[in-house]
Amino acid sequence: MMKNYDVVVIGAGPGGLTAALYASRANLSVAILDRGIYGGQMNNTAEIENYPGFDSILGPDLSEKMYNSSTRFGATFEYGTVESIEDKGSKKIIHTDDGDYETSVVIIATGSQYKKIGVPGEEEMSGRGVSYCAVCDGAFFKNQDVAVIGGGDSAVEEGVYLTQLAKSVTIIHRRDQLRAQKILQDRAFKNDKINFVWNADVEEITSEDGKVSGVKYVDKETGDEKVVPASGAFIYVGIQPMTDPFQDLGILDSENWIETNDKMETSVPGVYAIGDVRKKDLRQITTAVGDGGIAGQEAFNYIQTLSDADLADVK
Ligand code: FAD
Ligand code: NAP
Repeated sequence: MMKNYDVVVIGAGPGGLTAALYASRANLSVAILDRGIYGGQMNNTAEIENYPGFDSILGPDLSEKMYNSSTRFGATFEYGTVESIEDKGSKKIIHTDDGDYETSVVIIATGSQYKKIGVPGEEEMSGRGVSYCAVCDGAFFKNQDVAVIGGGDSAVEEGVYLTQLAKSVTIIHRRDQLRAQKILQDRAFKNDKINFVWNADVEEITSEDGKVSGVKYVDKETGDEKVVPASGAFIYVGIQPMTDPFQDLGILDSENWIETNDKMETSVPGVYAIGDVRKKDLRQITTAVGDGGIAGQEAFNYIQTLSDADLADVK
């Protein structure tokens, strides 16, 4: 059976939750559609200390608070994985694995997912020592040696987090300089439990008896092949947009990020995109929230321009 809303927000991360708050507070009927629990990437973050109003807050706690705010004015949470969107002019049909939705406005807030490095052992040992989430899996490596691959904010921040649990953390990076924010770098350099391996091309996640045993890499300066012994390999080599369901709308750039203007409008009238899924420079909770506020308000403005005929159900 088709469900009808003025606005459907796809993705219940910080961006989507904020958009739902603004649109529902403007008295529109709003669904927040997600394939999992609300909170998005915040659920994979231990401590958040750059969200104003809190010195530090756990990711799942901030998720709960945002969810409560976003549903306060009547927005409904719906489960489902979005598979595609049909553009019928003033109406859009959203197809999910659990039914269809008809709506005047779609706000895409599907975020991004971790990239893989694509070396032998990565896929085979996933869940058996290879992980993309220190908060979820760190506790399995208490007092053990672990490796973190990457040099951005995620690798460094999660590496520091892992020192609370692991015996040692070796950050393996492909260059001789980190990409992470300075404050995170300073923390990592000061931490006695963290070692660095620079200029390393990771070749393989090695294993013994069905468990991860280390990370094999080539030292780019000497050409030597070496191994960092580790029971866990945490991979943080960047993110890619979650935009497969939107391929046919013609709103993606060459790397599959969604392009918008500063009103969060895509090239399709009535379709907005916010948060990490957008082509943008800074992907943070604060920027997702900012985008969400703008799109929630713009959804209201857009609906004011539609005629009664436009607003009538098509199915
Ligand atoms: P997301 O939070 O990614 O949420 C997207 C939602 O869309 C998810 O719930 C997902 O299930 C849903 N979804 C995706 N596809 C579909 C589909 N087809 N159908 C239905 N639902 C779908 N930022 C900070 O400001 N401070 C930090 O300390 C911080 N720490 C971080 C630590 C890590 C390890 C990572 C990876 C990121 C961190 N970030 C941090 C970045 C921050 O988490 C993101 O910028 C933010 O969560 C993006 O919000 P979003 O709403 O755009 O998307
Ligand atoms: P990122 O910033 O894209 O960094 C990816 C890192 O992995 C880079 O250091 C990159 O090396 C390395 N890398 C990429 N491909 C690789 C490969 N194939 N093999 C080995 N190394 C590879 O990604 P991220 O750290 O996951 O961050 C994603 C977004 O979330 C960013 O916008 C970030 O700011 C945000 N975030 C914010 C916080 C925070 O504010 N506290 C915390 C976490 C994440 P090079 O440096 O050589 O390119």
